[in-house]
Amino acid sequence: MAVGTGNVAAPVALRGRRRSRKSPAMTANAPITQDVLTLPRRLPEGGQRNLVGLTRAELGEALAAAGTPGTQIRMRAGQLWQWIYQKGVRDFAEMTNLAKDYRALLAEHFTVAIPEVVRREVSADGTRKYLLRIAGGHEVETVYIPETDRGTLCISSQVGCTLTCSFCHTGTQKLVRNLTAGEIIGQVMVARDDLGEWPAPGRAPKDETRLISNIVLMGMGEPLYNFEAVRDAMRIAMDGEGIGISRRRITLSTSGVVPEIARAGTEIGCMLAVSFHATTDEVRDRLVPINKRWNIATLLDALRAYPKLSNSERITFEYVMLKGVNDSDAEARRLVKLIAGIPAKINLIPFNEWPGAPYERSDWARIEAFADIVYKAGYAAPIRTPRGEDIMAACGQLRSATERARKSRAGIATEPGL
Ligand code: SF4
Repeated sequence: MAVGTGNVAAPVALRGRRRSRKSPAMTANAPITQDVLTLPRRLPEGGQRNLVGLTRAELGEALAAAGTPGTQIRMRAGQLWQWIYQKGVRDFAEMTNLAKDYRALLAEHFTVAIPEVVRREVSADGTRKYLLRIAGGHEVETVYIPETDRGTLCISSQVGCTLTCSFCHTGTQKLVRNLTAGEIIGQVMVARDDLGEWPAPGRAPKDETRLISNIVLMGMGEPLYNFEAVRDAMRIAMDGEGIGISRRRITLSTSGVVPEIARAGTEIGCMLAVSFHATTDEVRDRLVPINKRWNIATLLDALRAYPKLSNSERITFEYVMLKGVNDSDAEARRLVKLIAGIPAKINLIPFNEWPGAPYERSDWARIEAFADIVYKAGYAAPIRTPRGEDIMAACGQLRSATERARKSRAGIATEPGL
């Protein structure tokens, strides 16, 4: 889910949606969503299979199919797992605890591949944004946000998004396909490469050296519409012999795909954020059109039943502050009434405006007044600091800008809304 919604990364990646200033109501007629399936990736004849993103069981099966003796599969899978995810090694020749002829066998059948960096922007505030190319030439965005006590990586789960949240830039891009588990965990590996976070040879990873301490699924796409790939990738992220990030430091942000919410708790077990943004169905229908399928009351029921919910594991409600749309005192009061009884924190996200956006950011005093009401009702209500504004940090912006740069002037002129 995008920030807007799910975008906790809000600060990070408020996705803005491109739309005429006059037409926020257009979203009322926009398609809510369509169910999409991950398109299977076809390997070229005789191609090597990418090991990144395979579950441990799939890795074992792949090794067996390549001729690894049955008695060795478990051990070999464990060794490879550590080389790939703990040490960041991608060349089989460097996997020195494997026999030379076995390394040759691996190189014949497999590859260890991650997305390619097409463009990398570093903000004055340290935020890093990557435009990554994945199979088929598609592009997705990943954002790294360093803070004093943590480093958060905001990753994408789909190319574009089928949802049409009216404040979100990604929602303006046609969905091309779901990402594979390898492409999702590959974003973490790309960022580790760029940050130089892999341990030096012979040294075990240490927590205090972690630059990426948190992962948020708040980049492009709705993660619960790509459930299996997201789950498998996050299991690698959480695996003690994998990337090794605690489940409590992983937050999945959804726009409100109600039927999959409980499953996220039981099968992934991560923290949950929801792109809430409104306190009436009328307004939420416009801002987050999936609300027309699962309205506020239905969503809140699902959140109350979230398996991991407790006072120490609260749900984050993302609330983008839009001037004159959802930012009144009355709305703040209605919000705290609606979520009564749910252990929660409310992230207030000043809207990250983009050219042509149909909304404006609420005034700072208004945001503070809203936060005050929520805070006095007993909820943490941090106001997210916009980050990386100088590098097009609104989700989807970098991808759009790069695509535009590649097009001819004439081509751009014929494209409505650009
Ligand atoms: S349009 Fe998609 S990517 Fe954007 S906020 Fe909505 S669910 Fe997230």
